[in-house]
Amino acid sequence: MNLYGMTLEGLQALAAKLDMPRYRGEQIARWLYSGHFDSIDGMTNLSRADRGRLKEVAEIRVSAPVEERVSADGTKKYAFLTDGGDVVEAAMIPDGDRRTLCLSSQVGCRVGCRFCATGAMRLRGNLSAGEILNQYRSIPERDQITNIVYMGMGEPLDNLPAVVDSARLFTAPTGYGLSTRRVTLSTVGKPEPLARFLDRCDVRLAISLHTPFEEERRGLIPGTRGYDLAELMQMLRRRAREDSRRVSFEYVMLKGINDSLRHADATANLVRGMRTRVNLIPFHPWEGNEMEPSSSAQIERFRARIEARGVAATVRRSRGLDIDAACGLLATQHPATTGGTPATTGERRTSADRHPA
Ligand code: SAH
Ligand code: SF4
Repeated sequence: MNLYGMTLEGLQALAAKLDMPRYRGEQIARWLYSGHFDSIDGMTNLSRADRGRLKEVAEIRVSAPVEERVSADGTKKYAFLTDGGDVVEAAMIPDGDRRTLCLSSQVGCRVGCRFCATGAMRLRGNLSAGEILNQYRSIPERDQITNIVYMGMGEPLDNLPAVVDSARLFTAPTGYGLSTRRVTLSTVGKPEPLARFLDRCDVRLAISLHTPFEEERRGLIPGTRGYDLAELMQMLRRRAREDSRRVSFEYVMLKGINDSLRHADATANLVRGMRTRVNLIPFHPWEGNEMEPSSSAQIERFRARIEARGVAATVRRSRGLDIDAACGLLATQHPATTGGTPATTGERRTSADRHPA
């Protein structure tokens, strides 16, 4: 079993099972997370006997990136091997004093959004909590990271247990101790798993909206066919009254599809009254996808229209365009999964810049 990625509760239960004092759980958590230790032998406040018992049943599995690419604007993209031999990516986006880490929760995704390269590769597997956290732990910029966003490959709510454990470990005092305001989960927002997530984690929320119209949304985001947008909005409004959590909305700007002023008006109506913000994301085309990005002029008109209706709206700046690998693309071509030679993504140009800076 892998100790890395286990929560305090899990470690305490393991300690009890191995006939160790319960406080061993917290000691181990501190070595793993604040101490960044990757060896059981190094846990010097555990008795030799306890270390021996631990080593019989457990190990600490963390892994350095297998590939790294750097953009002219400083954005970095890291690829990691999963236990199952797949590849996942994380992006580190520097912006002034901020260092935002965008990480993956799955290999591929089954939601199937029409504009998303990760969606096109379908779901290959879930990451464990350890594999999610490792994308933070094992990069050279770790200690400078100011913000963490679950905006890489995968739909986090489709991998709920591992995502909950990882989000809790990012923010727990016995984990990495980051502020809950610095961690954001991005999701298409299925009400039922979302409610369970919100009950268990205090981090911020970004809802991928992409259109205010129900039927159209089901077309763009096929994985939302099983629930109503109205139901989701109702739940978000109820929750917003109950806690002070920040919720924002993401909206990929697709030319001629969802970028009309009619869309802007309906979007403003949908979210008005919530303490929120709409983040407009320029679409990044990829080979095999016919959609086109909205012009900057149209994005600006759209933004201004939403603001004129009393809702804050921003345009996400594109980052890392020259490292031509959208989240998901590199992984589909990686030697570990294709058996081929190490490939770069060649002509494909897209979006490390899906990620907010
Ligand atoms: N599955 C989650 C989180 C990962 S996707 C979600 O959908 O929210 C993170 C963001 O990247 C989403 O808002 C998604 O719509 C956006 N995105 C996906 N493909 C994109 C592309 N080709 N260009 C720009 N943004 C894209
Ligand atoms: Fe999955 Fe998010 Fe891509 Fe949609 S945008 S296919 S939910 S990763």
